[in-house]
Amino acid sequence: MNRKIAARPQLAHLSAHLDELKQKGTYFHLRILEDQQEPVCTYDGKRVINLASNNYLGLTAHPKLREAAIEATRKYGVGSGAVRTIAGTMRIHMELEEKIARFKNVEACVVFQSGFTANAGTVSSILGKDDFIISDELNHASIIDGARLSRAKVKVFRHRDTAHAEDLLQEVQKEPGHKLLITDGVFSMDGDIGPVDKLCDLADKYGAIMMVDDAHASGVLGRNGRGSVDHFHCDGRVDVQVGTLSKAIGALGGYVCGSRDLIDYLYHRARPFLFSTSHPPSVAATCIAAFDILESEPERIERLWENTRYFKRQLAAAGFNIGGVNTPASETPITPIILGDGRVAMEFSRKLFDAGVMATGIAFPTVPEGKARIRTIMTSEHTRAQMDQALETIAHIGKQMAILA
Ligand SMILES: *Cc1c(COP(=O)(O)O)cnc(C)c1O
Repeated sequence: MNRKIAARPQLAHLSAHLDELKQKGTYFHLRILEDQQEPVCTYDGKRVINLASNNYLGLTAHPKLREAAIEATRKYGVGSGAVRTIAGTMRIHMELEEKIARFKNVEACVVFQSGFTANAGTVSSILGKDDFIISDELNHASIIDGARLSRAKVKVFRHRDTAHAEDLLQEVQKEPGHKLLITDGVFSMDGDIGPVDKLCDLADKYGAIMMVDDAHASGVLGRNGRGSVDHFHCDGRVDVQVGTLSKAIGALGGYVCGSRDLIDYLYHRARPFLFSTSHPPSVAATCIAAFDILESEPERIERLWENTRYFKRQLAAAGFNIGGVNTPASETPITPIILGDGRVAMEFSRKLFDAGVMATGIAFPTVPEGKARIRTIMTSEHTRAQMDQALETIAHIGKQMAILA
């Protein structure tokens, strides 16, 4: 029997906060996927063209990855049984890390439970309260949380503004602490690319530790999806490279690549590594298979970029603001449609969904006030017909809401 428990006053402030969101029109419920992550799938009982997932290369449903997960489960069971440092380091975890290190052309790699914990666990453990973090204003929340946990002093530079980053490095040049210069490789809300090469120059000039968060660049940028460091030919110049296994790689997890000593240090000090259980063997096996696919099926990445170019061109031709004026210009499969007002963005997204297209509405505080948008993400698996149908629907709603003339 399911008896409802009466609300208690202790959490009334949370209910008040939710009421506020409802008034602002930014309250949401979770859309529920009824089948698998694909270009056309079923959310909340409705078939929609999916422009919202980070499944860039369609790997979530790849038969070889599915097989790898099943086989590993048969052989090794469903869980690792402990944190890595106690008893939960399986042979397959080591194989995955060695594979990623080779792929990224670095000495060593450590895998975390997620990209979020990779960032937060790394930034918080390699710096202390006498150190400095020089960080792009649009860097991911996990970097911000890691910075807070480290208790280092944070200096934020204007988005992609390397002159401003240099000013900040100069300000702290005489201070004794370590300096960490950090950027996202691809920014998740605007789809623009961090100036990794120029920041590497600054890191070299000022002796700063250079760190890149390649969550949206993993599997997307660089040769066979090696990421932004490869894209900018900055091999050997980035001390800490973070990537995710949760987006283009199709499964779950995050990793840090760098020197053998960096990785050994993280084994000893990174708190999510020390205090949270490692991946099930199925996840490790899936990721190993995914890196094989990046090498053996480069056509997926080619299709991703072909689709991206087509979709962007058509959105711009229809008259939408897809960034570049008062907002960063997207250069990747993430394409925002800037609408301005948060309520308008949320309504646009709802209407799209009712018309059979899923694209997330994003408003303040995730993006600045007045820059609300819907965000679209292209994948290698969308067909021309699916893209055209989505474009037609987006234009139709745009006209209906008087966003397009
Ligand atoms: C998604 C994302 C993360 C977190 O990765 P998960 O593996 O999903 O935890 C970190 N940084 C950036 C820039 C991201 O977009």
